[in-house]
Amino acid sequence: MWYFKLYKSTLVYINMDIVLATNNQGKIREFRKILNNSNINLILQSNYNVPDIEETGITFVENAIIKARHASKCTGLPAIADDSGLSVDCLNGQPGVYSARYSGEHATDQENISKLLHEISKYPEEARTARYWCVIVFMKHFNDPTPIICQNSWEGIITSNPRGSNGFGYDPCFYVPGLGKTASEISLEMKCKLDAHCQSMRQVIEIISEMYK
Ligand code: IMP
Repeated sequence: MWYFKLYKSTLVYINMDIVLATNNQGKIREFRKILNNSNINLILQSNYNVPDIEETGITFVENAIIKARHASKCTGLPAIADDSGLSVDCLNGQPGVYSARYSGEHATDQENISKLLHEISKYPEEARTARYWCVIVFMKHFNDPTPIICQNSWEGIITSNPRGSNGFGYDPCFYVPGLGKTASEISLEMKCKLDAHCQSMRQVIEIISEMYK
C-alpha cells in the first residue's frame, strides 16, 4: 500500500506496506531492526491469515519465490520471503533445502543436529566444510516476472563437539574458524554482522529503498 501527502504543494510518498512471508517473530524482529528509519512497513503474513504453502522447490531460490508469490497473491501487497539452510560439502550439499526437516517433518533442532553429526562422523574434520545459505526474494506483485533475489552464504566447519547456547538450528555445531567459536558461542550482534540472513536482508532492503525513493 502506498501513502502520499502534500508537502509544499508536492505529492510526497511517505510509506509503503510489504508483507513478510513468514510467521517467525524472530525474523520480523531482525528485519525491522535493519529497516529502522526506512519508509517501509513490514507486516507479518499472519495478520492477513495467509495459510502456509508447501515448499516444493529443490533450491532455496525456488522456495523463496513460492512463498513470496503466495503471500502477495493472498494479500494484494508486495512481498518479501526468505529461504535458508545449511549445505555440507562432504554430504553433497545436504541438508540444503531440507535443513528444517532433515530428520523428519516436525524435527527439533536437537534431532536435526544428531542426524547431521551421525552423517558426518565418517569424515575427517578437514572434509566437513559447510556454509549457511540465505536467499531473500522481493516481489512487487504475485506475477512479478523480475523478482529481486539476494543470496549470501556464511562459511564454517561442522564440529563434532557442539558448543554454545545462543542462536538456533545448527549453530552449536557450526564452527567459524576465523572466530575460533561456534555460531552458538557468539552474540546476536556479532552474528548479525556475519551471517547470511543479515547480509541478504540488508541487500534487499537497500535495493527496495532505492527503487521506491
Ligand atoms: P527456513 O528458512 O525457515 O526454512 O529454515 C531453514 C533451517 O535451516 C532452519 O530451521 C535451521 O535449521 C537452518 N538454518 C538456516 N540458517 C541458519 C542459521 O543462520 N543458523 C542456524 N541454522 C540455520
